[in-house]
Amino acid sequence: MNSIHPALIGSLSSTASPEKVINFSPGPTSLPEAVEKQIAANFQKPGLTSLALSHRSPEFIAILEHAVNTARKVMAIPDDYEVLFTHGGGHGQFAALPLNLCHEPTDTATYVVNGTWSARGCDEAKRYCNVQTIDAQDTKTGNYLSFPELTEEIIDKESKYVYLCSNETVNGIELHRLPKLPESRKHIPLVVDASSDFSTKPIDWHGCGVGVLFACASKNIGHPGLTITIVRKDLLGKASPLCPGVFNYTTNSEAGNLWNTPATFNIEVVGLVMDWIEREGGVEANEQRSIAKAKMLYDVIDNANGFYATPINDKSLRSRMNVPFNIAGGDLALTEQFLIESWEQGLIGLRTLTPFGVGDYLRASIYNGITLKQVTTLAEFMVKFAQKHR
Ligand SMILES: *Cc1c(COP(=O)(O)O)cnc(C)c1O
Repeated sequence: MNSIHPALIGSLSSTASPEKVINFSPGPTSLPEAVEKQIAANFQKPGLTSLALSHRSPEFIAILEHAVNTARKVMAIPDDYEVLFTHGGGHGQFAALPLNLCHEPTDTATYVVNGTWSARGCDEAKRYCNVQTIDAQDTKTGNYLSFPELTEEIIDKESKYVYLCSNETVNGIELHRLPKLPESRKHIPLVVDASSDFSTKPIDWHGCGVGVLFACASKNIGHPGLTITIVRKDLLGKASPLCPGVFNYTTNSEAGNLWNTPATFNIEVVGLVMDWIEREGGVEANEQRSIAKAKMLYDVIDNANGFYATPINDKSLRSRMNVPFNIAGGDLALTEQFLIESWEQGLIGLRTLTPFGVGDYLRASIYNGITLKQVTTLAEFMVKFAQKHR
């Protein structure tokens, strides 16, 4: 019996030599090489590793303060926002948001659903509050291909917040800048799931009325489990009495992120990634790198005479983080051949199994850990593959 090729089931153990391996996984994934080396070096030093530090020791407090302060500096987070490190990943925040911002289960929250992650956040919120949905699903195809215009007619004036996801990791839709709510809805805080694009572009905190912005660490800035949750201070003290303490923004902010044991090592890593962004020119330079990396792949797709296709036609909405593409209109044999050949050359993570099943599209995720040179390697592979099989 023939066994199924590992590339087709999402294996990351390419047979290429290790220095050739490039990790295009949607997360968890590789961090910038310099950060990974720094982490490794920390474990070679004599004495305690950071994994062994008590969270109340001065050594860890210094690590925590460093992570908070560099995140503040790099992302220009104003003083009227609290920087929290919360548990439970992105999903933890799906529940924590309504529990913190809706005191009563009858309170309304407005959810823009323009992809699989916002749909998931919306479904979770329905358990805790009254949800008003702005659904951008394309009725013909069932896919998410656009972002709706946020007009006053579609946003309840009494809404406690308007929720959106700034980069739909699975669908490949990104808001390169956050929207502003219409004048008559400016009193409503904007809540943003920036899990897969945080740190890759500047955020206009006050200008866009951001109330809460969260990012699970495992895409651009660290390891799974940890989430950076940035909360405007006037939104503290509004939680439902049922909000668990570990999710409560107010208790965690009053305790300086030490209400219970925080994910100490993961917090240290976020600090190291923030240092790296700062060394490499800050968030503006990081954005320029993202633009250049994404352009390289979309150019290959757009110039392949239809051999490759990406679902999002509107270029202003194309994700710079996750580039979905199919091959010859989704031809199964060619897609499998592409996956096997690329995997054997070290290009891994292009097909992953998601909770939403195996998509029709392959996907190259090009977060902070991926360099322009590495994207070039994939782009060149794609061009050659197209020349051979077109
Ligand atoms: C990955 C991801 C999540 C889920 O994060 P977990 O840490 O797995 O809970 C949520 N939102 C977006 C946009 C993501 O990319």
